[in-house]
Amino acid sequence: MSERTLSGVGATPLTATGEVVWYRPDFELPDRSADEVDARAERERFAVAQQLAREELENERARAEERIGADEAAVFDAHIQFLEDPQIEQPIVDAIENGLPAEHAVRDGYESAIAQFEGMDGRMADRADDLRDVRDRLLRLLTGTDRMDLSDLPDGSVVFAERLTPSDTAQLDPEAVAGFATVTGGRTSHAAIFARSLALPAVVGIGDELREIEDSEVVVDGEAGEVIADPDERTCRKATRTEQADVRSESVMTADGESIEVAANVGRPVEIEGATERGADGIGLYRTEFLFLDREEPPDEDEQFEAYREALAAFPDGRVVVRTLDIGGDKPIPYLDLPDEDNPFLGERGIRRSLGPDSALFETQLRALLRAASETAGDLAIMFPLVARVEEFEAGRERVEEIREDLRATGMAVDAPEIGSMIETPAAAFLAEDLATRADFLSIGTNDLTQYVMAADRGNERVGPLHDPRHPAVLRAIRHTVDATDGTWVGMCGEMAGDPALTELLVGLGLDELSMSAVTVPEVKARIADTDSTAARTLADRALRKSTKRGVTELLTEHETGVDQ
Ligand code: PEP
Ligand code: MG
Repeated sequence: MSERTLSGVGATPLTATGEVVWYRPDFELPDRSADEVDARAERERFAVAQQLAREELENERARAEERIGADEAAVFDAHIQFLEDPQIEQPIVDAIENGLPAEHAVRDGYESAIAQFEGMDGRMADRADDLRDVRDRLLRLLTGTDRMDLSDLPDGSVVFAERLTPSDTAQLDPEAVAGFATVTGGRTSHAAIFARSLALPAVVGIGDELREIEDSEVVVDGEAGEVIADPDERTCRKATRTEQADVRSESVMTADGESIEVAANVGRPVEIEGATERGADGIGLYRTEFLFLDREEPPDEDEQFEAYREALAAFPDGRVVVRTLDIGGDKPIPYLDLPDEDNPFLGERGIRRSLGPDSALFETQLRALLRAASETAGDLAIMFPLVARVEEFEAGRERVEEIREDLRATGMAVDAPEIGSMIETPAAAFLAEDLATRADFLSIGTNDLTQYVMAADRGNERVGPLHDPRHPAVLRAIRHTVDATDGTWVGMCGEMAGDPALTELLVGLGLDELSMSAVTVPEVKARIADTDSTAARTLADRALRKSTKRGVTELLTEHETGVDQ
């Protein structure tokens, strides 16, 4: 049989080969007419199923907390809330009173709640998966269907599913499961987030074609976002070869002796261990807004203090760059009552909110950060997101200084942390020189910088090809930033920094640090060690002279393969 390639969204840049195991929760609903239904008995069955579901969720919560971490486990609290939400429960009880068997009432009751969430954007749409999870749990209990045990699959299984809900993914044993692929789901779906936390190769959002693959050996290429069914020997060899570079705990230099720091991006405490295990030199981006997601109210000062202290303690000899809250845009937080904006990416987000409506949260966060730094050996650096004006940077810096003075007045010894600005807007790139004279460091966020330079929404696949940091317009914004800073340390923490195919180009553009998801740290370190900085600069200069993305990609392929395109 010849190989067949299916495309989706790569969730983790890892590759694995294994045998397909389909996971299909399937329920047979009873066929009974209204006069055969005893409403009282059905209400009782529903109540018992709810109670059992609650017990299961509490057990799974404890299990996920132990295996993955408290933040991931918190999703089960959300499920318990959905399970007991009167707005979902009442229509189910009413439908039972009107003669529907409990199974049908549950199916219909959840269907309308799911449809409402699906109509929303981004992470809210992903909550529809949580509701499906709760619905399927109730239907399984009501119909007495056996559950497929995802925690006990043969070694080397690649799980295929319509979708994987949080409780499904929490059951997967990363020792046995080689990877997974799903019909639905996006980069921010829980399945994708869990895959990254567990370093499992995964591709999501493949679409209907996935259903056609059964009983096959497959390669899951989370880097290319592809699933290859019936791979030939060459593909399998390649998949095995690209698996993992050796971990280097020490810092790396180019072949001709230029030091480049390689740090990890993290969003939750549970990811810190992965960063140390994979040899990151420090944390180049702590996306602190992740501490605020999937919960009912913001973490208080002490909870944040603990999270930051843990990060600093994990890297006693390295820098930990903590980005202050970047809320808004694609990161809504329901309890903060964000304004309904026509263009949230161009609206009130990042430092704009911290200096405006979220100033109290900003202050709490800065206090927690400075307290953590005063008690831990690690080197704290604070970074502001979405800076577009010099005044924003200065106001943020002043807030840090005021809070440091308050803490010092209580007798606490708090050293001044390094303070930096992200370069994510064209304005910040043009102002790099002015920001660099006021900041201790800059870090280029290519995810947003590309979106704003190219005017291409980072979450809209219709303009996906435009949202590409290899475009010479983006490369020139990066070069301008590095050149304008006259020696100020410049790192990069957008996804571009973690693409090993671009490492040499980025070394040539003159970055001091590259920060990425922990999984790619070993590969990028290996690439740096193989790079000659003079050749890298020549490559970057040639790329900067190109007028099109195609010109740049052809140059990179030619350089990598040594063959003219
Ligand atoms: C970026 O914009 O490149 C970045 C690192 O920030 P985030 O992806 O969190 O917006
Ligand atoms: Mg950003």
